[in-house]
Amino acid sequence: MSDHNESSGDVDIAANLATIQHNIDEAAAAVNRQSADITLVCVSKTHDAAHVRGALEAGRRVFGENRVQEAAEKWPGLKQDFSDVELHLIGPLQSNKAREAMRLFDVIETLDRPKLARTFARLRDETGHCPELYIQINIGQEPQKAGIDPADADAFIRECIEDLALPITGLMCIPPVDEEPAPHFALLGKIADRHGLKVRSMGMSGDYECAIRMGATHVRVGTAIFGHRAYNIGENA
Ligand SMILES: *Cc1c(COP(=O)(O)O)cnc(C)c1O
Repeated sequence: MSDHNESSGDVDIAANLATIQHNIDEAAAAVNRQSADITLVCVSKTHDAAHVRGALEAGRRVFGENRVQEAAEKWPGLKQDFSDVELHLIGPLQSNKAREAMRLFDVIETLDRPKLARTFARLRDETGHCPELYIQINIGQEPQKAGIDPADADAFIRECIEDLALPITGLMCIPPVDEEPAPHFALLGKIADRHGLKVRSMGMSGDYECAIRMGATHVRVGTAIFGHRAYNIGENA
């Protein structure tokens, strides 16, 4: 499958970004939050460097990719021109790609199991480097979805922070597509509060305003910026 997005030609990335920023500002104001406290993670997966450049030229610096290999091909060249980019991994990570992911990404949002936590700790000890980490919670307890079950979250968060001393700054979730997202966002916030974690990465193109009203610090938006993708979330091309 090609990286190329057929509809991207019709998409005005700068205009989409302006609309989204306006919506972020309004959602934040509605709950007395500062929009400066909300980071838009531009989800550039499947979109080629030329389209990503459109968002960079519009001033965006925080991007999300879901595959290590794709990011390794796309980003080194872009980072030469835009050195202050912050790159987030938002897709599932196999342990055997952890080393490369830790080198490529500034933030890994998808720490979703004990084995991966131990791998990060071992590689951190070996290299002296670890990106910022968010723990992914399977907030709707969906069997097909990655993430820690909410019932196991407290123990896992403690293990990561206290036993492994990993740089955990927050939590991430993807609510079930066919359910009202607000209660799921609220639950993520509660778990984060119990551990004093400031970052809550939640909300995508369809529900980022709701997520902001429910306390999101990071919203991950792809389609509303770049247009439709050739493959969908969770599917590996
Ligand atoms: C693809 C993806 C997004 C962006 O989804 P859109 O609906 O295109 O905004 C957000 N988060 C994750 C984890 C994703 O994989």
